[in-house]
Amino acid sequence: MSIINKYQQIGQRIKKVREDNDLTQSELAERLGFTKATMSLIEQGERKVAVHEIEKIAEILNKNLDYFLGKKMEKPVPDLRFALRADDNLSDKAKDQVLNFVEFIKDQDNSFRQPRIGFARNKARQIIEKMKISKPPIILRQVLNKLNIDLEIFSFDFSDEVSGIQINSEEKTIVAYNKNHPTHRQRFTVAHELGHLLLEHTSKEGAYNLEDKRPSEIEANQFAAELLMPLSFLKLDIKKIKNADDLARRYWVSEEAMWWRLRDLNLIKYL
Ligand SMILES: [Zn+2]
Repeated sequence: MSIINKYQQIGQRIKKVREDNDLTQSELAERLGFTKATMSLIEQGERKVAVHEIEKIAEILNKNLDYFLGKKMEKPVPDLRFALRADDNLSDKAKDQVLNFVEFIKDQDNSFRQPRIGFARNKARQIIEKMKISKPPIILRQVLNKLNIDLEIFSFDFSDEVSGIQINSEEKTIVAYNKNHPTHRQRFTVAHELGHLLLEHTSKEGAYNLEDKRPSEIEANQFAAELLMPLSFLKLDIKKIKNADDLARRYWVSEEAMWWRLRDLNLIKYL
């Protein structure tokens, strides 16, 4: 799902709850200090609505913030389910055989694999520790220099849906990011691609988005999030900076990435 669709979705939800609350667009606009035209653009998803604005809307409409932001962004891949044709009374040995086969398939085939979230986060955490970084923002150029890997980075005029691409050969890796995207998004893209490389994912790469459910995409996103917004720093900062926008600025990440991260870590409650 693209970011634009995301705002359309948020807009639709705002409209629905506003109507449930028997408020007109003008009435809600007035309470928010917006013009009716702005409110209309928000509901159509044509104006980016900042998270602090959604917070206020949620408060006025007496609805949970999560509702407007949508379903939890990163659901784990469901457990592999299997239908078994066999006698009711399977022996223990037969049960073991079946389970072994399931494990075998999970190992062999990426589409059945669970994302290794802890593994991905740890990989990023090790970098932060090794480099003795003690506060945000994380400067990717320094990280890349320190890692001493043959990685070349380019910016390229991709269409909007493409965030980044990675090309690997035996000797080196090339990562290109979309030169038209905002800087913060480019940083996440580069960190995401670095994640693919360090987590040893397969090499072909296209667009990514934060909601991609594929295990390798989840892992690369988790790596990037932990690298750019380390949990240990966030836990301290959130007590002082109780505002996602300011946190995003401090970590040089997009507001969206910061929200996604805070939700993922269950830290939203501290805002
Ligand atoms: Zn990716």
